[in-house]
Amino acid sequence: MKITLPTGPGSYVLVLRLLDPISLTIGKLGEFQFDAGWYHYSGSAMGGLRGRISSHLKRGQRLHWHIDYLSSSITDPAIEEIWWVEGSTRRECDWAKALGSLRRTRHLVDGFGSSDCRCRSHLVYSPSALQSPIIPPHTNQKLVQVYSR
Ligand SMILES: [Zn+2]
Repeated sequence: MKITLPTGPGSYVLVLRLLDPISLTIGKLGEFQFDAGWYHYSGSAMGGLRGRISSHLKRGQRLHWHIDYLSSSITDPAIEEIWWVEGSTRRECDWAKALGSLRRTRHLVDGFGSSDCRCRSHLVYSPSALQSPIIPPHTNQKLVQVYSR
């Protein structure tokens, strides 16, 4: 995956596609069934988008974030799209809520990526691909940067 990401802070969504259902243990959260479909994981990278997303993309790493358990279990390349906005305001929670409030989407796995906030989950499932990237609320940005493989 050749991709040039900004080195500065920002928030992002990783879009993963699962072709076949799998059962996975997600760290201490337990074991869950993941249906085939599209998964959207929102995160913030205040230390820099490039570093954080690069670490998500590396294979054979220690499983650190909840999303790593999912992405490492999907046939390479696991990440179909990366959406991001730059800026030092954390958008991950707003973004997760916006994604989860769409028709046909739902939050999955309580506590996924949201150990440090009050969100139910930062993982949002959709049985089919979303038509276009969702812009995080409360931003004046009209555009989300998108990488597609
Ligand atoms: Zn949150």
